Amino acid sequence: MNQAMSLPDLFVAVWPIIFTVDLSRYLIAAGLLVIILAIFSGPLASRRIQTRKASGPDIRREVLYSLSTALIFSLVGFALYAGNQHGLFRIYGGELPNGFRILLEFAAIVVLHDAYFYWAHRAMHTRWLFRRIHRLHHQSNTPTPWAAYAFSPGEAIVEAGILPLAALALPMHELTVFLFVTHMILRNVVGHAGVELFPHWWLGIPVLRRFTTTIHHDLHHSHGNANFGLYFVWWDRLMKTEHPDYAERFEASTQASRPHNSSNGRS
Ligand SMILES: [Zn+2]
Ligand SMILES: [Zn+2]
Repeated sequence: MNQAMSLPDLFVAVWPIIFTVDLSRYLIAAGLLVIILAIFSGPLASRRIQTRKASGPDIRREVLYSLSTALIFSLVGFALYAGNQHGLFRIYGGELPNGFRILLEFAAIVVLHDAYFYWAHRAMHTRWLFRRIHRLHHQSNTPTPWAAYAFSPGEAIVEAGILPLAALALPMHELTVFLFVTHMILRNVVGHAGVELFPHWWLGIPVLRRFTTTIHHDLHHSHGNANFGLYFVWWDRLMKTEHPDYAERFEASTQASRPHNSSNGRS
């Protein structure tokens, strides 16, 4: 797009593309996981985290608010695009840098996002903000992949804020931004799968156990005041907000037997 375009012309030319990409990312990732979970529902039955099942109205609400979030993400995405055209942000395009640089940029934005998410999430669990913007996400006591973007408009703006904030300081190739948002939706749908998808040996490997599993976030939905992290467990460990039964529950869900659980609702 050329810089001579007026803002309204730029909006008409660019925003529909950004919206289509944001919406497709959600629909494809959540839809594919729902299909996979349906196909393998037999073998995965012992890995279901809760005995309760999400109701039809739960799923409708999750989809509806995720569509609203895709719309808000696309508006913030357009602001990022337009601001970048005027040199406000440090996103660059053109020739690809070497893979190591892309990997570094990607690791930096993921680690930054994890910290941003943890602290924004803790803030949203204060009474005032919880009532106003975060309660909606917690209406999914038994989340499904459709809950990946089920945020109130206020929370969607908070969640969208990471990219413009990071791009003020962190140079990122357009490919890094694409990899970041793709990784974000994949981790989000997996975190809301309702079925533990990680292998039973996951927590036994020191490097891997730093990455959150499905149960990690599911326990946040069922218990509320623990496991605020997104991609990694380290903020919860450091701030002592990890659910005390996390490892035990992970073990139980990834064994063939199904010894536990019907906890629903926030405690
Ligand atoms: Zn929460
Ligand atoms: Zn969630």
